[in-house]
Amino acid sequence: MMGQRVVIIGSGAAGVSAAKALRTRDAELRIDIYSDEEVPPYFRPSLSFAIAQQPPEPRPMNPPEFYREKNIGLHLNMRAEAIDRTGKKVRFADGSEESYDFLLLATGASCFIPPIPGVALPEAMSLRDHRDLVKLMALLERKRHALIVGCGVLGLELSGSLLKLGHRVTMIETAPTILPRQLDAVAGEMYMEMLSGVENLEIILGSGVQEILGADHVEGAVLADGSRIDCDLVMISAGARANRELAEACGLNTDRGILVGPDMVTNDPAIFAAGDCVEIICRTYGLQEPAIEQGRIAAARILGDDQAAFSCGVYGATLTAFGVKLFSAGATGGDDCREFIDREKKIYRKIFLAGGRVVGGILLGDTSRSVILKQAIAAQLDGTHAAEAGLF
Ligand SMILES: Cc1cc2nc3c(=O)[nH]c(=O)nc-3n(C[C@H](O)[C@H](O)[C@H](O)COP(=O)(O)OP(=O)(O)OC[C@H]3O[C@@H](n4cnc5c(N)ncnc54)[C@H](O)[C@@H]3O)c2cc1C
Repeated sequence: MMGQRVVIIGSGAAGVSAAKALRTRDAELRIDIYSDEEVPPYFRPSLSFAIAQQPPEPRPMNPPEFYREKNIGLHLNMRAEAIDRTGKKVRFADGSEESYDFLLLATGASCFIPPIPGVALPEAMSLRDHRDLVKLMALLERKRHALIVGCGVLGLELSGSLLKLGHRVTMIETAPTILPRQLDAVAGEMYMEMLSGVENLEIILGSGVQEILGADHVEGAVLADGSRIDCDLVMISAGARANRELAEACGLNTDRGILVGPDMVTNDPAIFAAGDCVEIICRTYGLQEPAIEQGRIAAARILGDDQAAFSCGVYGATLTAFGVKLFSAGATGGDDCREFIDREKKIYRKIFLAGGRVVGGILLGDTSRSVILKQAIAAQLDGTHAAEAGLF
């Protein structure tokens, strides 16, 4: 595609995987990534652990020379502000404009910030990008009592890192179970038991934060039952929302994300979208693996491969925090299930079936069957075949 130009907005997993796939298949194409971040692409999941590392930096996706060597333009600190679909141009915050033949929106997601009074105080924040990490590390220069709002995977990883650094942590979750998206009541209870001995950690379930207290700085929080917690840092970990504003403003179809089909194309044939910013067949994923795959599919389609399609496969959530391993995939609820508990060894396995076929499962304490579980869901194995595969 001599002389053609692909502009990618966003330097996360989806944007970079698309750029790599484009370059692998086409040496001539002009490829430019524009990012509003100030650092080269890094693996976002490593932010949670970077806090407790020296130096506190996330893991880079590629060596610094990679982009030059691959002839991929990487433009940092460039926030895309508007898209002119008729003129096929993107306008950036500094007033500059860039033309495209194909545009890939890989703008990711942002942390959902609930509208709690006091949430704008400087020590109330979330962890989504490198700027947040820099801000958090400055706040952690003195010992803190952190209130983490949300007991999901990211909240637990974050609390593990804060505890490692010697900070005190209270976690609060509105659902009655820890990790409500991954665990059922029994697994949640077991997980709570495993965490009960962790020093400096308190977990409050079935409650929420009503107000964050403090005039200029965070001094505490009022909970739903009216009780008060003294804390001087509030970390919001309450889910993410697709960054779809850029798409919306130029008339692309959006709902919970930018709407695309399995070909990753939007309602404008010159504009593709991939990763956390998209909604595909009624789903937003919010996971790195599908973002990478969607980036690859978008690249293949841009290069004219009509067969490339995202298959909405099975993607699991993995967590290792406080030495406890957890893996869950597919459905994590339902009456038709097979359960295995070894309380002494702290192992729990629950496999969910629908119409006699495996549709999901939870592996707690021993995640060695995670690949089998994913395969069983993907192949919709029945009970007999799932047992033969070693799932039960
Ligand atoms: C702390 C943390 C831990 C996580 N852990 C896991 C995990 O263990 N496993 C897992 O599968 N997933 C995890 N995730 C989710 C995973 O990181 C995302 O699913 C993945 O990063 C999505 O990639 P993406 O490229 O779609 O979006 P992003 O990685 O969000 O990248 C989007 C990029 O676009 C930029 N951007 C947005 N708007 C503009 C604009 N207008 N102009 C220019 N640039 C723009 C953003 O700054 C960002 O750099 C975690 C996320 C976080 C925050």
